Amino acid sequence: ANKETILNVDVSNETYDSLIRQLFHHIKEKQQAFIVAVNPEKIMKAEQNPELRDLINTADYQIPDGVGVLLASKLKGGQITNRITGIDLMMEIIREAAKQEKRIFLYGAKPGVAEAAKAQLIQDYPNLQVAGVLHGYTEANEYIIDTINQSQADILFVAMGSPRQEEWIRKNQSRLHVSVFQGVGGSFDVIAG
Ligand code: UDP
Repeated sequence: ANKETILNVDVSNETYDSLIRQLFHHIKEKQQAFIVAVNPEKIMKAEQNPELRDLINTADYQIPDGVGVLLASKLKGGQITNRITGIDLMMEIIREAAKQEKRIFLYGAKPGVAEAAKAQLIQDYPNLQVAGVLHGYTEANEYIIDTINQSQADILFVAMGSPRQEEWIRKNQSRLHVSVFQGVGGSFDVIAG
């Protein structure tokens, strides 16, 4: 993949189209792909916190979510000019998932929010397969893993804020039968309206 390094943090240089193509190829090939949104705040935090830096750098795609990342790329003579926001990528993935009949799972946010986001998404994309939802304060991790695996989801969006969502994905990824993982922060709240 096409990457640059900004203050020791990897950042992917991709368009929405190239990302979508690669992600759905991973689904087809049953490979896993972990997407992390990178903004200037996370880059600054990662400078002080090597574990956070490794968490970001060992993901598969680090999307430049913030104009500050584009500016940093430009200042060091880099090529990253396309901003990819977490929520916009999530919506592009959902649009393609509806088209290809791939299954999504929504995990995170306060009770009722993922449910409301699901209702809104199905209204917008009637063909969308929402395999399941769980709120972000669900206690038993084994139950969470079983529920997601039994849902046969292809794509898992985790909305629990950063870096909690990324840490959860990293810790549980190997046990989840899911291809695409994206941490999406407050996106379910935005979609639910
Ligand atoms: N959240 C959660 N479980 C927790 C803590 C937070 O599901 O234990 C949810 C919270 O309800 C909200 C989201 O995580 O929907 C955090 O959104 P925020 O905008 O703070 O995340 P950011 O985009 O800033 O990382």
